[in-house]
Amino acid sequence: MRDVRRAASVAAIGKPCAYCGNPMAAPTRDHIHPRWRGGTLEEGNKVLACKRCNSDKGSKSLASWLYRLR
Ligand SMILES: [Zn+2]
Repeated sequence: MRDVRRAASVAAIGKPCAYCGNPMAAPTRDHIHPRWRGGTLEEGNKVLACKRCNSDKGSKSLASWLYRLR
C-alpha cells in the first residue's frame, strides 16, 4: 500500500497543486475534509497538494483555510 501511494505522489511531481496551482516538487496527499472533522478516507476526499499548502492548511477546514488565503 505504501509503495502504491508513493508511486502516485511521484507521478504527480510537476503537476499543479490542487490549491495554489504551482507545479509540485514534493506532492503530498491531503484530505479535503480533515479526518478529525469527520472526513472520509475515500478518494473523493483526497487531493494532491504541494507540501507548503498541505502543511499550511493543516487540520483547518478547507473553507476556513481558503478564507485566510485572501
Ligand atoms: Zn500548493
